[in-house]
Amino acid sequence: MKYISLGSGSRGNATLVRYQSDAILIDSGFSRKALLQRVERAGVEQRELAAAFVTHEHSDHAKGITSLCEHLNIPFYASFGTARKMEWTNHSLWRCIRAEQVIEVGGMTVMPVVVPHDAHEPLQFVIQNADGHRLGILSDLGSLTPHIVESYKHCHALQVEANHDPSMLQNGPYPPSLRARVAGAYGHLSNEQCADFIRRVRWPGLRHVTAGHISEKNNDRNLVAQILAVVLECHPNEVTMLEQDELSAWVSLSD
Ligand SMILES: [Zn+2]
Ligand SMILES: [Zn+2]
Repeated sequence: MKYISLGSGSRGNATLVRYQSDAILIDSGFSRKALLQRVERAGVEQRELAAAFVTHEHSDHAKGITSLCEHLNIPFYASFGTARKMEWTNHSLWRCIRAEQVIEVGGMTVMPVVVPHDAHEPLQFVIQNADGHRLGILSDLGSLTPHIVESYKHCHALQVEANHDPSMLQNGPYPPSLRARVAGAYGHLSNEQCADFIRRVRWPGLRHVTAGHISEKNNDRNLVAQILAVVLECHPNEVTMLEQDELSAWVSLSD
């Protein structure tokens, strides 16, 4: 199993996870055209896309989903709360998912995990293949719960949000209400919260960590690297961070 970010940040998020000849998409916060261009750049054929999963209704995650899935004629999985908010409940390609109810697609199992975020029924995902390799994707949450920490244990790879630096956020360009939202328990993880999460789920099998959903206005990538290098016990240059406008490298879990 391997994965690649097709872009990450407040202007759009999408991650491809591939196992053998199937690929699943986690979120599509890009237009169909932009998303398909990125899929092609990742070296994945459109016919290999088996399904899409949507974490929540915010446009940086859900914008391109229906157009893309109608074009490819593949199902998209989202919670009832997300579907109701997006008016998808009568859509023939929508599949309802619930927290803790594992879905099997293309030799992979996808477990939805409830997270605290200011959306209607937000979920994040832990994906596992038949070989037991486990990938945790976690973004758009304002705080950590014991349940989240428990759910993301024993992952071999993590793609986790390091959204903001609290003092940059407080002194940054956002209006006070938006600042409070981002910093709040239903907002986004700060760099320190991200490091705390990694510290709590770390185990010897954790091989790859990538930091994503990094704010362009309220964060500094050097700061992210410094803070995560401490918990990852590596050099700041070795901390992998996702880009808004660039694909990441493929990360393989079987190496
Ligand atoms: Zn987001
Ligand atoms: Zn969000």
